[in-house]
Amino acid sequence: MAERIERLAERVSAAGVDWLLVSAPLNVRWLTGFTGSNGVALCPADPTNPAMLLTDFRYTEQAAEQSGGDWKVVIASNDLLGKGLADHFPVSDSADSGLRKLGFDDTHVTTAQLATLSAALEGQAVLEAISGDVEELRLIKSSAEVEKIRAAAELADQAMLELLDGGLIGRTEVELAIALEFGMRSRGAEAVSFPPIVASGAHGALPHAEPRDVVVEAGQMVTIDWGAKLDAYCSDCTRTFFAGHVEEDLLRVYELVLEAQQAACAAVKPGPTGRELDLVARAIIEDAGYGDNFGHGLGHGVGLDIHEAPRLSRHGDKPMQPGMIVTVEPGVYIAGQCGVRIEDLLLVTPDGSERLNGLPVEPNVVS
Ligand code: ZN
Ligand code: ZN
Repeated sequence: MAERIERLAERVSAAGVDWLLVSAPLNVRWLTGFTGSNGVALCPADPTNPAMLLTDFRYTEQAAEQSGGDWKVVIASNDLLGKGLADHFPVSDSADSGLRKLGFDDTHVTTAQLATLSAALEGQAVLEAISGDVEELRLIKSSAEVEKIRAAAELADQAMLELLDGGLIGRTEVELAIALEFGMRSRGAEAVSFPPIVASGAHGALPHAEPRDVVVEAGQMVTIDWGAKLDAYCSDCTRTFFAGHVEEDLLRVYELVLEAQQAACAAVKPGPTGRELDLVARAIIEDAGYGDNFGHGLGHGVGLDIHEAPRLSRHGDKPMQPGMIVTVEPGVYIAGQCGVRIEDLLLVTPDGSERLNGLPVEPNVVS
């Protein structure tokens, strides 16, 4: 944790504020290790000041234990984005007469919270909106984080293999989703990364379809998007299966998406931006005449959060760097007919990428 404090302190200093208030729970968790429901971190620009973890009395022991001594744990009143913070906000040295500048992340603080915070800190600090500093550090995974995500992906693979052993035809989407979730939980996942998506037939045309009480029939494609959360880290994978047998027209759509997905995976390496990678897959799908049927971005980062930076889409301006973990998941959705999405989880390595999940991408016929 000490190294993370140091790296953040450099950014806080570069932003020209004295302290950074970190309030988003996953950012607090990543920085401090603290998993309680009420905690904020105060990171100093000046490393001679202590980095502080504020929480309330319920978490006295837990905060001290989880933050491992690198953070000064402060037990405050419940309203950490108000009086709780003001009571413990470090006072200015006598030498400097000005108010302390406190940076806060305006993508995680609501307007109402900001009003409370400003009122509570009046006369103590001036607030300055800064966004994305912790997210920026979270972009590059440590080797320990990579191993956790790899383990989550392996666990999710095993749960899927078990699900497929039981077959798809004749089971409802809801039944399949529950069995998959049970398979992940019973293998030790603390949760699912998100509720599994199971979408058969024409329902597959909805990228974020909710499972229905509808039975999978032979000849349909079934898209399943699932992930496990293990040791706080998420995995994410999608496969589109053929139930019973392959219909020629569906196979053509599948092969198009597979071609786009494989080309984009092959392009993942340090250097290209998320936008450039998105274009690799998009060009192939557009050339085949299905550009309008690929309505979402190519992928996203995965870590503590199921969707985090970097974005692999038209808006992805960050170049890939070793240590990033991203999904590559193009899809083609034809309203009233079908949908295909194929998603893999890739670690960007110094000379390319490594796939963290293991299920094959070739057309898979399941009875
Ligand atoms: Zn997914
Ligand atoms: Zn995804």
